[in-house]
Amino acid sequence: MEYSKTNISLSEIIKRLNAEYPDRETLLIHTDPFQLMVAVSLSAQTTDAGVNKVTPELFRRWPDPAALAGADAVELEALIHSLGFFRQKTCNLIAAARRLVEEFGGKVPREINHLISLPGIGRKSANVIRAHVWNLPGIIVDTHFGRVCRRLGLTDAKDPEKVEREIAALIPEDLQITFSMTANFHGRRYCMSRKPNCAGCPLNDICPKFGVGVG
Ligand code: SF4
Repeated sequence: MEYSKTNISLSEIIKRLNAEYPDRETLLIHTDPFQLMVAVSLSAQTTDAGVNKVTPELFRRWPDPAALAGADAVELEALIHSLGFFRQKTCNLIAAARRLVEEFGGKVPREINHLISLPGIGRKSANVIRAHVWNLPGIIVDTHFGRVCRRLGLTDAKDPEKVEREIAALIPEDLQITFSMTANFHGRRYCMSRKPNCAGCPLNDICPKFGVGVG
């Protein structure tokens, strides 16, 4: 598997990232699609650990879409206050739960277009849900993933949807979820936006941006 921009072996990149990051499950605690949808929605602009602190109580009080659709907004805001953007997140969660009940029979839909019709769920979140619930292929683009792919020369695009399309065209479907996760981990562990750890990076002998550190 080669890609044309730099002639670096994409297989080699995938192999090394897989070796570096063997554990690729999402860290968001959940036991069903509804819980993952809620956790992913809450995870915007905060850490998975922070989300995991509030979700057990949230799921205890509102265990399914019907319950969350009828949640008291003030009560929910107070519970998720520590996560930031708590008013918007509360609004989105209740509206998404209502939509699940009214449009999707109380179930989280699989179709990406249906998922992104839920308030608070964008393409990245939709692909996370599809990947972890149904093992459906997709490229999960966030700021870390996009930066790593650009530095490795896999894409020049900045627009997340364009990154998603271009990387999806390069990576076979059965490897897309894994690559999404490992490249994301790599962006957090080594290839940070500022001062990437190129010296310690397992891709440093094949990366066209070694030592440069510009996104
Ligand atoms: S060598 Fe540096 S720029 Fe390239 S992937 Fe590794 S950390 Fe990122």
